[in-house]
Amino acid sequence: MAILRISVVALAVACFLTLAQAQQPSAEKYTPALDVTAMDRTIDPCVDFFAYSCGGWIRNNPIPPDQSSWDTYSKMQDENLGRLRGILEAASVPDPKRTAVDQKIGDYYASCTDEKTVDAKGAEPFQASLQRIAKISSKVQLADVAATMIGDNVLFRFDSIQDYRDANQVIANTDQGGLGLPDRDYYTKDDAKSVELRKSYLAHVQKMFELLGDKPETATAEAQTVMRIETSLANGSMTRVERRDPKALDHKMTSAELAKLSPAFPWDVYFAKVGVSSLPSLNVSVPAFIKTLNETIEKESLADWKTYLRWHLVHANAAHLSSTFLNENFAFYGKTLQGQEELKPRWKRCTEYVDDYLGEALGQAYVQKYFSPGAKQEALKIVKEIQAEMEQDINGLPWMSAATKQQALAKLHGMANKIGYPDKWRDYSKLEIVRGDELGNVERARKFEFDRQLAKIGKPVDHGEWGMTPPTVNAYYDPQMNDINFPAGVLQPPAFDPKSDAAPNYGDTGGTVGHELTHGFDDEGRQFDAQGNLRDWWTDEDGKEFVKRASCISDQYSTYTIVDDIKINGKLTLGEDVADLGGLLLAYLAWKNDTKGQTLEPIEGLTPEQRFFVGYGQSWCGQSRDETKRLRATIDPHSPEKYRTNGVVSNMPQFQEAFHCKAGSPMVNQNRCRVW
Ligand SMILES: [Zn+2]
Repeated sequence: MAILRISVVALAVACFLTLAQAQQPSAEKYTPALDVTAMDRTIDPCVDFFAYSCGGWIRNNPIPPDQSSWDTYSKMQDENLGRLRGILEAASVPDPKRTAVDQKIGDYYASCTDEKTVDAKGAEPFQASLQRIAKISSKVQLADVAATMIGDNVLFRFDSIQDYRDANQVIANTDQGGLGLPDRDYYTKDDAKSVELRKSYLAHVQKMFELLGDKPETATAEAQTVMRIETSLANGSMTRVERRDPKALDHKMTSAELAKLSPAFPWDVYFAKVGVSSLPSLNVSVPAFIKTLNETIEKESLADWKTYLRWHLVHANAAHLSSTFLNENFAFYGKTLQGQEELKPRWKRCTEYVDDYLGEALGQAYVQKYFSPGAKQEALKIVKEIQAEMEQDINGLPWMSAATKQQALAKLHGMANKIGYPDKWRDYSKLEIVRGDELGNVERARKFEFDRQLAKIGKPVDHGEWGMTPPTVNAYYDPQMNDINFPAGVLQPPAFDPKSDAAPNYGDTGGTVGHELTHGFDDEGRQFDAQGNLRDWWTDEDGKEFVKRASCISDQYSTYTIVDDIKINGKLTLGEDVADLGGLLLAYLAWKNDTKGQTLEPIEGLTPEQRFFVGYGQSWCGQSRDETKRLRATIDPHSPEKYRTNGVVSNMPQFQEAFHCKAGSPMVNQNRCRVW
């Protein structure tokens, strides 16, 4: 799934304000699609367009203490939390007339925000899980217990995916996993910062064991054990760049073949326990990882595996336990890893959990209140215009043969547009939410989602399903579904502003639409056909031409510095960078077409063309803490905001013309890149 922006929220936990202490969100403040006070007009747009568009924004928007980064989208997301909070507080009043949906989201929220009860329970809610681990008496039983630790990320991942070769079918899938740090690179890199971070991680793991009641000297040894096992699993894991090639993840095999790869792990026991006893075949994303897992199971003692499981149990649930666990978890994952100064207020975290676990229940009330049918129609209009531009663009491409063009057009025409929210809401009736049982609710919600994923195995794909919840301020393209998805949360001001002139809306939301559309044709997306099958529909010659053009972009971005001496990994960000450039170009052409024959006047001292580009630039206003920059350099396939702006406009002659930039200006790329 290629998304518009990163979400690292899963890494972060937050704070301990009680409901009474927390302030209600203030009356909503309107921010227009183009905000001239966010600009810095003392900067020459031809020298640094990001600073020109966003200098004022950055001065006026210091990163709040409870955030690791702060930008246009995270600000929208934060404001959205205030709206969702209103919905949740109303739903949490135990009124017998509540709808079933309100009961679930309201009771979940009430349990989560009830800090007193959560604190009073301490580590008691997961004693049963700890005992299950303690009772393991053979390595075979690792499979039994792993099958109960849903959402705890132990050993490997197991879920369902669309079959790479038959996109209409869902099959089971195993993948690498089982790490406590955000990426395998954290275990393998030898630079000073990585070494230092591993030391902090060890200290954190040790503290968590101490919180479970272990003696410091025991806990020190246990942390070493965790590090050793995770390092072994990391060594068998693929890098993020390697994982960008879908062919490298396509390994369909029988259960017997999987068992041969890792005889030390009784897969049949695991499958039976999770309820998928007859699996004729499945995908094994990373066979080398499964082999490494097998070796690690054999090599490490049973006692050490139990230590590993205990760590992951406490780690995965710390955010839902008492404040001692919560604060220690934040100290490492929030502060050390991301530079976040404070935990988020409890109501924000709880609102995010409701969105995570019951997103389409919460989303129903959200879209009713905050997403009008008019906004949906307007967004659909822009999508259709941009698709029409893509069609023209493909037809006119000088480097692509007629045969490949025909396939590309079939893919474009086969793309589904999903706007706002799903046509059919997810049914949560089987998920039991118990008021006052925070950790139990989380466990049941994770199990509900796990079972929902596994229930799809062997069945045809449901094309109506969404991978993001309606309040999400983000968007994505799914190459196997061949659909573009714009949740209601991203179709709000300032990104999408019905009160604004068209230019900045096309620069911002139009750019986003074009971005998602282009993902169907980036280095990853182009490998899938109109039906979502992993199938090469390119002639050799055209494939080479594409790679040549894409390399221009990865070479360009690889010269940009993120933080310290860390440069963008242009191979990791290639798909997003291609989508940014193609997307803005398509949005520009669509806007020109939409306003053809109209006389557009300058507004606030900016020509319509300038307003288009500033609208785009302001969609990326933002800043991050240095720790977060380092984290993103490793895990984020998106370039930093500054380069998502400057890297794109410097490739566009339309930008040079709009701002009368001289050849040789920093914002005029001498060797202009263009794919689409
Ligand atoms: Zn994207």
